Amino acid sequence: MRLCGKKCSVGTTCIIRTFVKMEIYDYIIAGQGIAGTVLAQTLLLQGKSVLVIDDPALSKASKIAAGLYNPVVFKRLVKSWLADELIPVMDDFYTGSEKLLNTNFYFKKQIVKIFTEENEKAFWLKKTNEEVGRYLSKTIQDDFLNTIIYNPLGSSEVIHAGNLDTQKFLSAFRDHFAKNNCLLEEKLEYDQLQITENSVTYKNRSASKIIFCEGFKVLENPYFQWLPFKLTKGEIITIQLDAGNEIPVDKVINKGVFILPLGNNTYKVGATYEWADLTEMPTEKGKSDLIDKLNKVIKVPFTVIDHQAGIRPTVNDRRPLLGIHPQYPALGVFNGMGTKGVMLAPFFAKQLVNFLENNIPLDPEVDLKRCK
Ligand SMILES: Cc1cc2nc3c(=O)[nH]c(=O)nc-3n(C[C@H](O)[C@H](O)[C@H](O)COP(=O)(O)OP(=O)(O)OC[C@H]3O[C@@H](n4cnc5c(N)ncnc54)[C@H](O)[C@@H]3O)c2cc1C
Repeated sequence: MRLCGKKCSVGTTCIIRTFVKMEIYDYIIAGQGIAGTVLAQTLLLQGKSVLVIDDPALSKASKIAAGLYNPVVFKRLVKSWLADELIPVMDDFYTGSEKLLNTNFYFKKQIVKIFTEENEKAFWLKKTNEEVGRYLSKTIQDDFLNTIIYNPLGSSEVIHAGNLDTQKFLSAFRDHFAKNNCLLEEKLEYDQLQITENSVTYKNRSASKIIFCEGFKVLENPYFQWLPFKLTKGEIITIQLDAGNEIPVDKVINKGVFILPLGNNTYKVGATYEWADLTEMPTEKGKSDLIDKLNKVIKVPFTVIDHQAGIRPTVNDRRPLLGIHPQYPALGVFNGMGTKGVMLAPFFAKQLVNFLENNIPLDPEVDLKRCK
């Protein structure tokens, strides 16, 4: 309840009481990038009530990402961190979401690794007999797409890889949240938060906790600015090939850059890594670096039809950041997905929900307590 407080025409202060209806939720989620979307849906699946607050104009990372997932680190040919644990949870989450939303956005593809040195082949074959081998094809191809790709030393494939069409995923969930009255489309103003030990109120919405998922914009959040982010800008281009020069849609080419087929003979090519310029503006240098690398991979002409940039929420120790604020138990964070939001978010959203709801401790490697 609050007083109207306006001056009436007769000059006295109005004392009519107006009632402002308080909406009560279990959780408020700030941000609807990959992290906020996956966390909100994980909570909804547990029967929790959720309000997602998002201003989509504030960060582009999730929207422009290629959305690739790859269980192999190419430099050393080893499994990427927790790949065996992350992949089944990721598969369940995105395929379940496709069913729920009746849309396809999660695609299995093979990543074609083009060899650049003769001894890479022997190393690859040796690795197929090690733990990482479950993700590596045992076949070396000598002539894969050699009318389009420079491929003199052959190639092989990473199996159980693919991509999430992040734009489709985010917009399908945005519609779903809006239909279920779970979405407030505006910039969250931090000075409007009223915080107690076990609740948080934002304007006329109240929840037992707010979990911040603002990606790199966390640096504007007065409660979590101290977290050890080391942000990385990334640029990505979209190209078109001429008819007759198609790369199959279920293959992603990797040789210095990746080439991800989108359909209609268009492809995303990326990405750059830059630590000094942290604006979301695409640059001529970013574009020409990608074109130079691309010219070393494909033999056929291409046209650049789009060019975008975003900031990855990367962390000093390259691990996600999850947990509760050391002084304010009603404030939490789910961030630091870095270069691998697609693979990491489903597994760690589940872990955070288990921590919040069932007191199951967080993995110390991701718990923000490590940043003290
Ligand atoms: C060029 C490029 C290529 C990439 N390729 C891949 C890839 O192939 N595979 C992969 O897994 N990852 C990739 N990534 C990384 C991936 O984009 C990130 O891991 C992921 O997007 C992080 O998601 P997020 O939800 O934490 O943050 P964000 O995507 O930044 O989302 C944050 C959301 O919160 C909103 N927001 C912020 N502040 C507020 C506020 N105060 N009020 C309301 N809303 C707010 C923002 O507008 C945004 O919607 C790539 C990144 C880039 C830049």
